[in-house]
Amino acid sequence: MYRHGSFLAARGGVLPSVEGPTPIFRVASEDLRQRYLEPLMRAEKEMCFALTEPEAGSDATQIRTRAEQKNGAYILNGRKHFITHGAEADFAVVFAVTDMEKRARGGITAFIVEKGWPGFEVTRLARTASTVDLPAELTFDNVEVPAANVLGEEGQGFYAAMQWINGGRLHIAASALGIAQHLFDSMLEYARTRTAFGQPLGKNQYVQGYVVDSWCELESARGLVYEMASRIDDGSDGRREAAAAKLVATEMVGRVADRAIQVYGGNGFMTEMGIERFWREVRAQRLYEGTSEILRTNIAKTLGL
Ligand SMILES: Cc1cc2nc3c(=O)[nH]c(=O)nc-3n(C[C@H](O)[C@H](O)[C@H](O)COP(=O)(O)OP(=O)(O)OC[C@H]3O[C@@H](n4cnc5c(N)ncnc54)[C@H](O)[C@@H]3O)c2cc1C
Repeated sequence: MYRHGSFLAARGGVLPSVEGPTPIFRVASEDLRQRYLEPLMRAEKEMCFALTEPEAGSDATQIRTRAEQKNGAYILNGRKHFITHGAEADFAVVFAVTDMEKRARGGITAFIVEKGWPGFEVTRLARTASTVDLPAELTFDNVEVPAANVLGEEGQGFYAAMQWINGGRLHIAASALGIAQHLFDSMLEYARTRTAFGQPLGKNQYVQGYVVDSWCELESARGLVYEMASRIDDGSDGRREAAAAKLVATEMVGRVADRAIQVYGGNGFMTEMGIERFWREVRAQRLYEGTSEILRTNIAKTLGL
């Protein structure tokens, strides 16, 4: 699993969870599977997942994008932001309110909206700490979406998103393990080969501490992520497990990335060594698909708090 993460990281840290097939398609009709899932599976198309809005991030139940029925179709109005691959995607899975009173309790619906449909525009690209992705702002101005493009049942979009998010969280946890493995391997090699004061850096106990603490934390996180994934395989609904895996692995990789820079010294901060990039990229893992604070809140709820 972590090798896969390293591979992804080496290709630019792009996570396929938002651009490729996601488990949300489990609720899709046969027609939607053929038109959208199959080209995704063949890697002929990319998608994006558009839930977050300027006024609704952690509390996604407060989204304002509306979809109103008219002549057998839905008219979509609203704005999404921070959408990964929003500019490149061939289509977007967009969440909109279809019943203002019910909202997250049966009033949020998921739609598949194609690039190029009148009124659907990429209105801004955000510059970030990452050099890889420019999350997009997407604007929907009276976009007509055919009823056949409702993903799952009307009003059930929020539930579908929440079911999907466990898989996304595990995916990010696995990616964090892969990146941490790569950083650990790199810092170990550097500590063995770089010399200062006539001996390898790794003979210094401070440097040993950075390497050893990173190894211990990586192995602890790996054990936890695998155990959580296995509990989901065994039938757990995954809410606590996926949140715990993402929380522990992404917090861990942040610390490992910081130590890797310290072991590399000034070289770690220089772009050409390829270390500082991971330090920047992994920072966002503690934000998207559930911030660390929201994950803790989710876990607390499953513990009856
Ligand atoms: C690089 C990147 C890519 C993204 N890609 C996508 C995407 O493809 N699709 C998409 O829909 N969204 C995407 N997002 C949005 C992401 O999911 C949100 O940024 C995230 O949910 C947090 O929302 P927010 O930024 O509005 O922060 P806020 O909700 O404003 O929260 C701000 C801070 O307050 C904390 N906080 C909020 N409420 C509580 C609480 N009850 N208890 C404790 N702490 C709390 C948060 O944890 C956070 O630290 C992306 C974000 C980033 C950074």
